[in-house]
Amino acid sequence: MKALVVLDRVNKHFGELHVLKDISATVGRGEVVVVVGPSGSGKSTLCRTINRLETIDSGTITIDGEPLPAEGSELARLRSDVGMVFQSFNLFAHKTVLQNVTLGQTVVRRRSTREATERAMELLERVGVADQAAKMPVQLSGGQQQRVAIARALAMDPKIMLFDEPTSALDPEMIAEVLDVMVGLAEEGMTMVVVTHEMGFARRAADRVLFMADGEIVEEAAPDSFFTNPTTPRAKDFLSKVL
Ligand code: ADP
Ligand code: MG
Repeated sequence: MKALVVLDRVNKHFGELHVLKDISATVGRGEVVVVVGPSGSGKSTLCRTINRLETIDSGTITIDGEPLPAEGSELARLRSDVGMVFQSFNLFAHKTVLQNVTLGQTVVRRRSTREATERAMELLERVGVADQAAKMPVQLSGGQQQRVAIARALAMDPKIMLFDEPTSALDPEMIAEVLDVMVGLAEEGMTMVVVTHEMGFARRAADRVLFMADGEIVEEAAPDSFFTNPTTPRAKDFLSKVL
């Protein structure tokens, strides 16, 4: 499998705090990597470094063969290849659902309004909220908003999708509708990095699980072997609390 994202000895500090400690990892094309670990272990920071929402102190990050630059138009271009979905939906509150999904397409991808609208409706259909297109985000449930956020990210035709605890802010009855969309994407071959506490999703969709603790990747395994046979005490301890 050809690597789409390569992290090589990445280090990141917040002041004195060493948040990412010499992280090396690869994500293959079409691979679904689920990142788990206790709160504060560096999972969000890891995601955010992949599209340079956070700078790094040392090491390199390569996306599809191109090193991620620190700034500039090249960074903007590479970043637009990385779709990101956060815990807190982050939809544009003063735009309709449809506008949320067309905006990046017209501004960044330079598509015509008509083309962007067609693509947006196709994606809203696919995530099951096409009938909400004319509404404002606040009129939608959390699960619907998160599905719009996924459609918005997909509209940019990203090479990879990053999900940072996409269901953590949702009421329990809405979690499945978001996870189902994500499983669908995984089955279609989308390259994905997913930070989640939904171990059921990891078992269903992950090709590989990364277990992080204290800024390090402590364990890396296929979901079956990670869940049934974790090898480190920290992973065993973590799993005993979440399973
Ligand atoms: P996780 O997503 O696994 O819960 P994070 O990546 O959010 O972990 O955080 C890792 C560590 O870095 C935590 O100790 C957190 O408090 C700290 N941290 C995260 N973001 C910042 C920031 N912007 N400034 C200072 N410390 C931060
Ligand atoms: Mg986090």
